[in-house]
Amino acid sequence: MERLQKMLAHAGVASRRKAEQMILDGKVRVNGKVVKELGTKVSSSDTIEVEGVQLEKEQKVYYLLYKPRGVISAVTDDKNRKVVTDFFDDIDKRIYPVGRLDYDTSGLLIMTNDGEFANILTHPKYEIDKTYVARLKGIPAKEDLQKLERGIKLEDGMTAPAKVKLLSGDKKQGKGIVQITIHEGRNRQVRRMFEAIGYPVQKLSREQFGFLTLHGLNAGESRQLTAHEVKLLR
Ligand code: URA
Repeated sequence: MERLQKMLAHAGVASRRKAEQMILDGKVRVNGKVVKELGTKVSSSDTIEVEGVQLEKEQKVYYLLYKPRGVISAVTDDKNRKVVTDFFDDIDKRIYPVGRLDYDTSGLLIMTNDGEFANILTHPKYEIDKTYVARLKGIPAKEDLQKLERGIKLEDGMTAPAKVKLLSGDKKQGKGIVQITIHEGRNRQVRRMFEAIGYPVQKLSREQFGFLTLHGLNAGESRQLTAHEVKLLR
């Protein structure tokens, strides 16, 4: 289920704010009835009409993108920077990213036009593991990494215990490569976690999302998820 205004925005009817106004103005019908309640939840089986015109039910599509660094995880950018949908110019569906990777973070990002699916994958209750590889300034000591394994206090609260592994350390260059797995998805969380133990992240990549990996893809490439993968993620 998805909030009506979000669904309208995803369907390209209007921005979310304008969609809210259209709902309040009584311009939107769900299964034949005018709905003025902004919290109304709808699913893909509902029939939605906007000003008397029925929205087409778009076929659902699911992609895995290897997002390069220097790309915004959104469908538009007010500063005209490259956005993740630019990699799907040949697709005639309105897809958007499931969650976000920072502009400077590369790695695995799911793209879809299925709002319910996107909600499931980003809902904290599902606790999907996400694995990142971070290059750090400095080589963290075991005790420091254990702080992340226990959970660490950030300004928005304690983090859940993470799985952490030092993959390599270069003493000459003073750099450590660490693999970290978390199931939360707070803003800039991995960067903030390493910052909190005194090792700023210089480079970050998401290598895994649940059972999905970047296997076979180069940065900027994508592939469709198989029906089986979509089913397993739901
Ligand atoms: N954590 C971060 O700090 N950045 C991301 O892009 C993803 C997770």
